[in-house]
Amino acid sequence: MTDVQDREESRTQRDVLIRARGIRKSFGSQQVLRGIDLDVQSGEVCCVIGPSGSGKSTLLRCINHLEKLDGGQIHVGGELIGYRRSGNRLHELSVREAARQRAGIGMVFQRFNLFPHRTALENVMEGPRQVKREPAAEVRERALALLGRVGLRDKAGSYPAQLSGGQQQRVAIARALAMRPQVMLFDEPTSALDPELVGEVLETMRSLAEEGMTMIIVTHEIGFAREVADTLIFIDEGVIVEQGPPRDVIAAPSHERTRAFLSKVL
Ligand code: ADP
Ligand code: MG
Repeated sequence: MTDVQDREESRTQRDVLIRARGIRKSFGSQQVLRGIDLDVQSGEVCCVIGPSGSGKSTLLRCINHLEKLDGGQIHVGGELIGYRRSGNRLHELSVREAARQRAGIGMVFQRFNLFPHRTALENVMEGPRQVKREPAAEVRERALALLGRVGLRDKAGSYPAQLSGGQQQRVAIARALAMRPQVMLFDEPTSALDPELVGEVLETMRSLAEEGMTMIIVTHEIGFAREVADTLIFIDEGVIVEQGPPRDVIAAPSHERTRAFLSKVL
């Protein structure tokens, strides 16, 4: 490789934060992901849409190694997900190593998944304390700041059951941020919310986007995707059918399948 190619290669490696190549995943005889290639640049917001059962959640779960791939490779921040290279062989990461790696990838689910017997503050402190063993005082300070950032500084002492769905979801976002992730993955974060609570969660994600967080967001909120996403991806039956700037994909989809899907959700 020439110096120029070498430099070019390392530059693209640095700018691309998430790189997936040839991702395949089956459950039994069902092929759920059938060759996904995906690049997400540092600071990019990528929204993913597609019918129920098309593989969107499975794709996110593969990126943080909650699912093991049947084929392909994923790099996040240049680091191979789920495996460690030794010589020219790949070894699966141990549970501990995988947990450490996963700590760099924030994930927010449809259901809030907060610990019910811990306060908002304790929920946000949990990861840095238990996984990273960071000092309590420092973690507490950061957790309070993060609760402030999602507009819930005054709810630090509340338990999940005392919070609305939208507030719980914002605590879940603060909890993911507490691990200082290099990317955030959102799996339909507003789908379980009452309609009047959707906006506050979308606003929180919008402000993260403005701060330059790299994000993949599976969502049916097309208006949000149009305004906030840099890239909109349409997945159907385990393949990326179409991707591009959201306005282009929404206004002029080039595939019939995308058109048919959008006509149902718009
Ligand atoms: P989406 O998020 O797009 O609705 P999913 O990725 O959740 O789709 O699921 C894609 C397909 O894979 C569905 O048919 C689903 O039933 C199946 N699937 C997902 N997870 C599992 C699993 N752990 N075991 C078996 N089948 C699964
Ligand atoms: Mg899903």
